[in-house]
Amino acid sequence: MTDTASTARTLPPLCPSWCTTTHADNVAEGGDPGEHWGPSRAVTLQTIHNEIDRRVERDGGGGCEMWLGQRALEDRYGFESAPLVEFQVEDINQGRALVKLTSGEARTLARQLESLADVIDLGPA
Ligand SMILES: [Zn+2]
Repeated sequence: MTDTASTARTLPPLCPSWCTTTHADNVAEGGDPGEHWGPSRAVTLQTIHNEIDRRVERDGGGGCEMWLGQRALEDRYGFESAPLVEFQVEDINQGRALVKLTSGEARTLARQLESLADVIDLGPA
């Protein structure tokens, strides 16, 4: 058996349409062939200073990262988990938390965050 044939057998035959994983490279580097990863986004949290006395209210350096993920079944012909938006928040002082959201939950969270930000910038509706 050639390395190519061995590698081909471990690759998932089905990828979700959003999968951007280069599975052959991932397997060659020792990665899990059953993991599908999609696009990611990141936001860096900046230091927040009090507007009056300039004291630090929140240290910068943490951030939010989000990406798409889904696990393939052991036989690689289906999916073991639902497609999820994985949302990780890291506060440099408070630590890290990872939340896995369905697409509906991610949309709801995004709308609620925007709504609260609008209250700050535009006032109550
Ligand atoms: Zn994939």
